[in-house]
Amino acid sequence: MSAPSQPDAASVEFLPFTRPTIDEATIAGVVEVLRSGWITTGPWNTRFEQALSEYFGGRTVRAFNSGTVTMEIALRMLGVGEGDEVITTPLSWVATANVVLAVGARPVFVDIDPATRNLDVARVEAAITPRTRVLLPVHLAGLPCELDALYEIAARRGLRVLEDAAQAIGSTWRGRRVGSFGDFASFSFHPNKNATSIEGGCLVLPEDADPGLAERYRLQGVRRFGVDGMDVDLVGGKANLTDVAARVGWGQLQRVEEFNTRRRELAADYFEAFDALRLGERGVQLPPRSPQDSNWHMFQIVLPAQAPRAQVMERLKARGIGSGVHYPPIHLFSLYRKLGFAPGDFPHAERVGAAILTLPLFPGMRDGDIDRVAQALDAVLREFGV
Ligand SMILES: *Cc1c(COP(=O)(O)O)cnc(C)c1O
Repeated sequence: MSAPSQPDAASVEFLPFTRPTIDEATIAGVVEVLRSGWITTGPWNTRFEQALSEYFGGRTVRAFNSGTVTMEIALRMLGVGEGDEVITTPLSWVATANVVLAVGARPVFVDIDPATRNLDVARVEAAITPRTRVLLPVHLAGLPCELDALYEIAARRGLRVLEDAAQAIGSTWRGRRVGSFGDFASFSFHPNKNATSIEGGCLVLPEDADPGLAERYRLQGVRRFGVDGMDVDLVGGKANLTDVAARVGWGQLQRVEEFNTRRRELAADYFEAFDALRLGERGVQLPPRSPQDSNWHMFQIVLPAQAPRAQVMERLKARGIGSGVHYPPIHLFSLYRKLGFAPGDFPHAERVGAAILTLPLFPGMRDGDIDRVAQALDAVLREFGV
């Protein structure tokens, strides 16, 4: 295994909140695919799907060109549409709720548990109506949502589950890999995720789902038979993954455990540095400490009210430190306000969403980078009297 790629000269000065690690073997592999005469969906897509299936304990997996379309297709496979409701969290990337609207159904938000920042599963049951079809939990920052309680509710109330595991490749729940058990699970290979195919995603299918149906939704509804036969019996899209992308994704999958180990080390270093600075006692909320469960997709703090996020971000940037916002609460976007959602609906998601800050965390970071972030954050917070 080669070492994580070294940052170039410019990035020694500026530390972004994330950066993909693409090794030379992957780059050479991509060149081979480009020279092979077959660059779109083909043998590498199949190989990537097989490797993903092995990674997820032998379950059936299909690859797509985004983590968004994987979720949309899962909902279509479940027949979710007009008049149906899908229960989800307001604190996620907007794709989580957009796919529900895309299939004509209604997202029903349930507030988060402010400690985990994930869907508060204890509140789910009260949100179930006769129209509820699917529970759509998100494993925010890679920390698994409370899956035992969630699957128990789903089984008892006759609901399906689609896990938005976009951020959770390699996360575990009670020692089992997220995606290796349960109902539908959707992953993303966007460049910011722990493994990337540039753009891409995959859907882990439960046993009662037809992979052929996933394939038809993936490519224009086309079904081929015989030597020259073709039929179309549903409206499919254009969601296939190119072999160039699949080659990148396959190369990343070979290293995702190594990447995640490095992320866990860096997260532990953050806790050590922040404990030494007593950030918790100064009103900064640290993420939950459950390194055995999370793949540490992100390390996110919640700022105290005295330290306005935009100003903290600007001052960190001036000190060469990148940061990010993941995420503003979905229900307050204008599209969702038009559906009737309003400020005050989900107070925990609103408070956390207004003050959450993603700090740099990616496998190519050097040990000293954590201290750099800690010192900069400490100095900036002091400027605000924190
Ligand atoms: C990245 C992400 C998605 C969407 O994945 P894309 O590959 O960008 O389409 C969906 N949900 C969550 C929580 C994500 O982080």
